[in-house]
Amino acid sequence: MPYPAGKNLPSELASKLGHLEVLKSPLVREIVQNFEQPAAEEVIDVKWEPFPPPSSKPLDLVFAVDGSWQAVTGERFPYRKIAFVKTALMKIDQIALSKIDSEQPHPLALRDIMADAAFYHATAFPLRHAYFKGLSVYDAIRQIIFESLKDASLEGEVMKTFKWLVYESWSSSPRSALPDFQCPYGEKDGHLTTLSSDAEKGICTSCGKEIFITDMLGFHLEMAESAASESVATAYMNIHETLLLFTAVRHFWETNREILKHCLFLKDGPLQLRAQYSKLVNPIRKFLLHAYSQGYPISIVGQEKTGVFVDHLNFLLGGNAPAKHFFIPDHEYICHKVLCRPSTGLPYGHDTNYGAKVFVVFDKCCRLVLSIPICAKMDEFVCAPRALQLISFDKILTTLPGMISARHENALVPLEMANSIASLSTYPSAQVLKLFADAHVR
Ligand SMILES: [Zn+2]
Repeated sequence: MPYPAGKNLPSELASKLGHLEVLKSPLVREIVQNFEQPAAEEVIDVKWEPFPPPSSKPLDLVFAVDGSWQAVTGERFPYRKIAFVKTALMKIDQIALSKIDSEQPHPLALRDIMADAAFYHATAFPLRHAYFKGLSVYDAIRQIIFESLKDASLEGEVMKTFKWLVYESWSSSPRSALPDFQCPYGEKDGHLTTLSSDAEKGICTSCGKEIFITDMLGFHLEMAESAASESVATAYMNIHETLLLFTAVRHFWETNREILKHCLFLKDGPLQLRAQYSKLVNPIRKFLLHAYSQGYPISIVGQEKTGVFVDHLNFLLGGNAPAKHFFIPDHEYICHKVLCRPSTGLPYGHDTNYGAKVFVVFDKCCRLVLSIPICAKMDEFVCAPRALQLISFDKILTTLPGMISARHENALVPLEMANSIASLSTYPSAQVLKLFADAHVR
């Protein structure tokens, strides 16, 4: 790696001439000349299946969630670093969707739809060289996460959803206590703690210090006392997106369950919560199975826009996948062909995913990598999901073609709209946030 620029001297440039030496090497030349194209069978040896018969009509009501985050560092001492996170939930019905011109959507039409049906949430975390109410970064972030889920602009609904999932309040026998989790004050002895009786916060019975319900997610496991990594912001964004989507699910579950049969819930990214944050995965799986067994299959889809699965689907299309076909990769396929690792150990997604991967080809111009929850027995993990196990698969495949964007490749209009509200990364907002980070140094 070259040396970066300092304040007084410029950066070191990577040597361009160095490439010539590599290409001159006889060993390199011999290796590269012997590279071969992948065999045709490798590209087409995939069990593409035709779409199931379509459902009678598309799902009427669509909810889409997206988020963005940005870390900014002040330009003056003490170079304070703050991460801003924004998430948005969009509601759109088929009538509104049909009015949008997919090639040239009218800005005023979009504005009218969004004015009535968009909710957003924003928060900020001090990552470095910043104090909040006299607390260390470690305790400040824990408190901000707790307060942010209670965001009054969303009337505290996201916290209610979190509790509804983790205490399993939807069940006829809700949990009396949370599963044990590592106390945020237990770094030295690793002591476990819990909360009970639907509590949002309480006192750890081991150390007597105050703990929050949000501590069960384990954000503190990737923070130091005075600094936190950017991954705290991305993890929070992903969890908040998930909870926003389930807030809409909970709303209908509690008020009018029949409506759930007509809803599609769309999430940007896979249906996945990584590492310690996967504590939310089991409660979600349990609820989806319960709803399914009660006759209310919930149609949830995650769409991946980038990453190894998207790259792999593009590779497969070199073999010209047929239109209106899909392929569900199993554990072995994912390990060997997509992730390039041995298939030993726990099955792919065992603890972290609440949806199975599905490659879907609508036509030459639209192919999507989706995650769709599966119905299986409680506590059973399915390594090789089948199409019949994907919840509402026929309804989802009937609904998605009506919302394919003509503006971006492999894009869905509701997710584009949610992204346009949630997006933080566009100029000038990044510059504004930077000024904000400096202006509030005290
Ligand atoms: Zn404790």
